[in-house]
Amino acid sequence: MNRSKRIIVVSHCILNANAKVGPLAVYPGVLRQVMDRFIEDGTGILQLPCPELSYLGINRWGMCREQYDHPNFQRHCKQILTPSVDQIEAFVAAGYEICGIIGADGSPNCGVTRTPSGLVGGVIRDAKDVEKQMENFRYVPGMGVFFNILKEMLLNRKISTRFMAIDEDNPTTLITSD
Ligand code: SF4
Repeated sequence: MNRSKRIIVVSHCILNANAKVGPLAVYPGVLRQVMDRFIEDGTGILQLPCPELSYLGINRWGMCREQYDHPNFQRHCKQILTPSVDQIEAFVAAGYEICGIIGADGSPNCGVTRTPSGLVGGVIRDAKDVEKQMENFRYVPGMGVFFNILKEMLLNRKISTRFMAIDEDNPTTLITSD
């Protein structure tokens, strides 16, 4: 039996930058600076779904954590996460090692140590509206909506694992949550 029995779980866009909000992709497809090490050592890869793509499509705006943190979106997250959590549970029950879960810091959904905050809402008609949005925008410590729900779903099944995040400004480094 050649399988490694090791699995790394990753946010969707780490393997497919095309899922990201319009201008945000800083690599064309797979973030190889992070993924090559896992491919080379024979670790299997489990790709999570992208909650923003399935909820709002490819032409969505970038939004803050507060804008996603409402019951219908939370239900959406739980629904699309269930098959992934089922798979993780099956691997754990069979003795496989979940090496960790890698999210994307700075995302309102897949952030692990840093997520955007500063809800204004409303419409953008002119530069003043943009300015108002930007005045309120900041990054705050903590997880995004989707990853919070993922962590909770895993804990409900008594699965604890390491959460890490990519830093797109420095893609060779993985940030580990405490
Ligand atoms: S929601 Fe997560 S998977 Fe989707 S684009 Fe944002 S960081 Fe990537």
